[in-house]
Amino acid sequence: MQTHPIHIDLPDWLESFLAERPSIYADDCERMRLAVDLSAENLRADTGGPFGAAVFESDSGRLISVGVNRVMPSHCCIAHAEMVAIACAQQRLGQYDLRMAAPARFQLFSSTEPCAMCMGAVPWSGVERLVCAARDTDARAIGFDEGHKPADWVEGYIRRGIQVTRDLLRAEAVAVLQRYAAGGGAIYGPGAVSPASRAG
Ligand SMILES: [Zn+2]
Repeated sequence: MQTHPIHIDLPDWLESFLAERPSIYADDCERMRLAVDLSAENLRADTGGPFGAAVFESDSGRLISVGVNRVMPSHCCIAHAEMVAIACAQQRLGQYDLRMAAPARFQLFSSTEPCAMCMGAVPWSGVERLVCAARDTDARAIGFDEGHKPADWVEGYIRRGIQVTRDLLRAEAVAVLQRYAAGGGAIYGPGAVSPASRAG
């Protein structure tokens, strides 16, 4: 067999989307607004699941990277928005652990709480803080399988020195999830045998 490089395409609309937006995001609301807008645009453009994420430099608010869900178009189950944003930040900064880019520190904003995979990846990423909009129960409510997560995952992050903020712009993020479900969006993931098997 031939080896094959891992490749996750970002959607074509992303460049013009970002060109219309600032490079600095002063506060949590502005940062989360970007993550939720990314989820909504990914839905509108039909370029993946209804999830968006972004990595910012903590103090300056400089946007380092963005991610949207690309599981289906990239044929890649790890291409969740958080994983894409983390990988892009690391490759942009040339560090496999963002703590190695000190003294700068970094935060991950996600339109929905991490699934079990992303929950596991965040402590490896080197971000110092995770901020989420929708709860994982909101994703489960439209049929997504978020995997097995310990009930105390937030406390586990805090023990590792990762701050967690939840429910910021939750209603806006949930509205995107519900639009996706109402439009018949495919439910992929370990709990989905086929798009037609969606629960909930
Ligand atoms: Zn995930």
